Amino acid sequence: MSHHLSPLLKQASRVCVDHGKGSWLFDVEGKAYLDFTSGIGVTSTGHCHPRVVAAAQEQAGKVIHAQYTTVSHEPMLQLSDRLAGRMPEGLDSVAFSNSGSEAVETAMRLARHATGRANIVVFNGGFHGRTLGAASLTTSGTKVRTGFHPLMAGVVVAPFPHAWRYGWSEEQTTEFCLNELDHILKTQSAPSDTAALLIEPVQGEYGYYPANAAFMRGLAERCQKHGILLIADEVQAGYGRTGKFWSLEHFGVRPDVVITAKGLASGFPLSAIGASAELMAKGMPGSQGGTYGANAVACAAALATLDVIEQEKLVENAAVRGQQMLEQLQAVQRDYAWIADIRGKGLMLGMEIADSPTRPLPDLAAKITAACEAEGLLLLRCGIDGQTVRFLPPLVVNEAEINDAMSRLSRALQKVAA
Ligand code: PMP
Repeated sequence: MSHHLSPLLKQASRVCVDHGKGSWLFDVEGKAYLDFTSGIGVTSTGHCHPRVVAAAQEQAGKVIHAQYTTVSHEPMLQLSDRLAGRMPEGLDSVAFSNSGSEAVETAMRLARHATGRANIVVFNGGFHGRTLGAASLTTSGTKVRTGFHPLMAGVVVAPFPHAWRYGWSEEQTTEFCLNELDHILKTQSAPSDTAALLIEPVQGEYGYYPANAAFMRGLAERCQKHGILLIADEVQAGYGRTGKFWSLEHFGVRPDVVITAKGLASGFPLSAIGASAELMAKGMPGSQGGTYGANAVACAAALATLDVIEQEKLVENAAVRGQQMLEQLQAVQRDYAWIADIRGKGLMLGMEIADSPTRPLPDLAAKITAACEAEGLLLLRCGIDGQTVRFLPPLVVNEAEINDAMSRLSRALQKVAA
């Protein structure tokens, strides 16, 4: 503990890490933890994957900062080509920055500049970051908004199909949400004023809620009809986490802009947006990016990360291990009335601790994550009140590690329930 670390930077646990390897973290006292947080979905290749470490070390010995507005460097150029090849079809131009929030800002400003329209429609529960612009687009909870007004103007909030929360079927919820969106486009934000629909196809911070194919197709249809851009914030759900490379692939929809960060460089600060070259050309050159964007070591780590994802078939692993974990969590759910829902996709699963959608049990959820920590399993919570326990192990996680984590979880639940 340092008394000099500002409380603005809130911490979920007191674990002080010494080193990490694969799915494991080791604290300064030598205690081992299965890390099912992945640093909030970042260390997809596991902690300190040897190929990522070697690539970063090699690059650090060559050049660390080859400032990209001044000069080019090979890792950035190669990564642009590799990423363009992984983007949804037609999104062949990429722009780099350091964090998810910055990439969200880049996408939002590109959309406004390219369309000449001001409004961004976001979906209730979406998390898009903590910078003022990104926070203005965020409705996953008031924490990043309260006390920071006035926020950015031109943000309109539409409902997201949280079927469990509404207590309706997925079809009913989807129909309601699409009707409301049409209503919003007639009452609050005319299509001619609407630059983009910005959505997390699988919501993260709000509580691991996937959208669905009918809803996403409905959004894409409206975008096409009205010349509105569809922006997918894949910062948490993208890059293999949900068992598809992009989470939108689950829903058969092609966005105009993809935003990626977290899993991109195994922990080095790097983010990117992808769009068509045509759309990118409608932005303002020099309006985005910054001093550290496309850092050479981060780009080298990102290239090694992509190699590992492809060669070790981590997207496929996320799908298979995700199914294993889902089934085991569903089995655990049967033993406890207050595990109200298990949601998510691939290795992005949430366990709702609640009596009902309107009666969350965040204190109990906190006891569960604390008991898991004592058992050597690191977990995070999300949801408005912190009532959703989330499971997001690295994409390299193996069958035995999932079994091990589920045993630790079961022991922790028994203790909490006793
Ligand atoms: N979008 C989503 C979907 C996120 O989950 C996050 C981070 N949790 C962000 C944007 C912001 O990313 P960063 O913290 O890197 O700014």
